[in-house]
Amino acid sequence: MPLYDYFCDSCENEFEEKISYEEIDNKKIKCPKCKSQKTKRIINAKPFVRYIGDGWTQGIDRLTDE
Ligand SMILES: [Zn+2]
Repeated sequence: MPLYDYFCDSCENEFEEKISYEEIDNKKIKCPKCKSQKTKRIINAKPFVRYIGDGWTQGIDRLTDE
């Protein structure tokens, strides 16, 4: 099974989870640290891409920082 990166909204923990392709869109992944289900899959994370608030900032056009 492929290994995916996940990010926890509750404690900002990043972790990896093995999930089958059928489960990927509907399985609730619990954070191993705080047991929250407020987790999101990180897709092809690049070093300069950061997770901010409610969604991804793709980074490509994001050359200015607050
Ligand atoms: Zn957590």
